[in-house]
Amino acid sequence: MATIQKLPPGVVNKIAAGEVIERPASVVKELMENAVDAGAQRIDVSVEKGGADLIRVADDGCGISADELHLAIESHATSKIYDAEDLFRVTTLGFRGEALASIAEISHLSLRSRVATSTSGVELEVYGGERREQVPVGGPVGTTLEIRNLFFNTPVRRKFMKTTQTEMGHISETFNRIALAHPERHFSLRHNQRVIHDLAPVSRWDERIAALFGRDLAESLIEVESSDEETRFAGYVADPSVNRGNNRLQYLLLNGRYIRDRSLQYALGEAYRGLLLTGRFPIAFLRLEVPPDIVDVNVHPTKLEVRFQDGARLYRQLLSGIRNKFLTLDLTPRASSDGEGSGAHDPVKAAHHQQELRDWATGQLTRSTHTAEPPLARESLDSAVPPFRPFGDDLNRTCNEMLTSPDSEGAAEGLPHAVRPPTSSEAALPLTAGVPLAGVQVHNRYLITESEDGVVVIDQHALHERVLYEQIRERVLAGSLEVQKLLIPQSVSLSPAEAAAVLEHRETLARLGISIEPFGGDTVLLSSHPAMVTRPDPAELLRQVADELVEGQRQPQPRDLLDELLHMISCKAAVKAGDPLAAEEVAALLQQRHLFQDTHHCPHGRPTALVFTCEELDRRFLRT
Ligand code: ADP
Ligand code: MG
Repeated sequence: MATIQKLPPGVVNKIAAGEVIERPASVVKELMENAVDAGAQRIDVSVEKGGADLIRVADDGCGISADELHLAIESHATSKIYDAEDLFRVTTLGFRGEALASIAEISHLSLRSRVATSTSGVELEVYGGERREQVPVGGPVGTTLEIRNLFFNTPVRRKFMKTTQTEMGHISETFNRIALAHPERHFSLRHNQRVIHDLAPVSRWDERIAALFGRDLAESLIEVESSDEETRFAGYVADPSVNRGNNRLQYLLLNGRYIRDRSLQYALGEAYRGLLLTGRFPIAFLRLEVPPDIVDVNVHPTKLEVRFQDGARLYRQLLSGIRNKFLTLDLTPRASSDGEGSGAHDPVKAAHHQQELRDWATGQLTRSTHTAEPPLARESLDSAVPPFRPFGDDLNRTCNEMLTSPDSEGAAEGLPHAVRPPTSSEAALPLTAGVPLAGVQVHNRYLITESEDGVVVIDQHALHERVLYEQIRERVLAGSLEVQKLLIPQSVSLSPAEAAAVLEHRETLARLGISIEPFGGDTVLLSSHPAMVTRPDPAELLRQVADELVEGQRQPQPRDLLDELLHMISCKAAVKAGDPLAAEEVAALLQQRHLFQDTHHCPHGRPTALVFTCEELDRRFLRT
């Protein structure tokens, strides 16, 4: 075997460069990050021929003093950390001190810099790791780096460079990520003398987003925020009607650093579950601020991936933050309009809608115009809710109450609405009174009704599934889900994996109204089920839940278990295509449609409804 020897610094730097500098865009990233770390308020990037000929990054940051200039291009020389402890409280973008050394090794580098305390600057050139004489130069405070002939002495890398256009695409993306993170600073990007971006400082983040990604996209953004003692998410997600075929428009900034995180992106997808068709991805711009000591940024050569101490908590925070926001909005789209001018964010309507949802969540929805009534005691409400069949009197009651005329209010001798059975005269009221409820079922599968501006065809299963999901979810979260106790607890035998899974998640299941006890071996004793769910039968429901839990354990990403189960249960419990419905059931279901904002897609992402606007019909009938 050959003798062991220490590698010369040039080889060490080339090896480091191999990891950090993959392509011209990597150089742009390192130089821009250095400028940001230097506190620059203005950062100008110029590129020739996709970065193959020239990359210049000029900043007005703190600069580097003449006596430290040579250190800047030495490996493991940094001004950003001092000891190993600092590694766990990194607040700068760089800290490894190897970028400039690596770049200098594989290019012709020129570094010009001046600090504010000096009347002149200095310039240093390095050719393939070989340093030239340092010379004084004039110029403003700040630093300018010019990189020419990248990869000139690493022919394999040079050969692997793609077309100018492709490399420029990567550079643009890199530029966007950094410019996005610092809206209060001025950034510009030029390619072959042409200005691609010139971004003036702005105080609002959505203005920077608009400047980079276009006004149209920015107009579809919904502000989201969620914080606890330690962490904070804030930013924007796009209205579900504006989405993409890939996840590239998902920008996650962790303490100002762009990162990719599979688990958080999965959470984002989950938040939109049922709102997007399969294969479509949400758009998001999110800032995540966490104390630096609960995240390790030193796990990936370009720091694109990080490791969180408690990833599961962040996952939940992101998911619930967005979900809760969606619950307060009216996201129902105008299917045939192209998203333009639909006035989807009418604040008055939104506030009204929000109130309805809140009322619904606390189980006291009465007539939508009716707000003066004192809230009901929860007990009376809970004990009054009869079992699901199949829409439950609960839904029919709501519907009937909506049809009650204001005058008949006192008729039930002070009994709260929710516990008062509908009188026969109320039940006989025509369904069209006051609210546009009329709808018919066709082929035991679709419901047809009219909307404000057209005709709506609804998939009965998909809609009912969505309605049940929202309804059960609201109650579970409010801790007011009605539970049906079994007269005689039922023993259910499961596979070993299933038994272990359901017992492990006993508490979650209890929140869903499914109470179980171990009963020896792989058998469990089932003593209750959610009252709203009467099919499949309780034992079968438990088996399906068990199956879902076991299946879920095989998935690599963490999931919101409760949400997963809610989806599953509502799917199983909903009416199926082929189920005939009574007129009141059709009416009740249609009425529910207006209570939940995202009923236009079932939880699997299939549309629940198609809208044909009058405009479109007029056109088809050649009326216009
Ligand atoms: P790191 O950023 O990890 O510290 P670099 O090799 O990128 O390592 O830079 C080395 C050092 O050079 C930095 O720590 C910083 O002190 C200095 N430096 C680099 N670029 C700039 C700049 N644009 N303005 C001021 N100082 C800079
Ligand atoms: Mg750096």
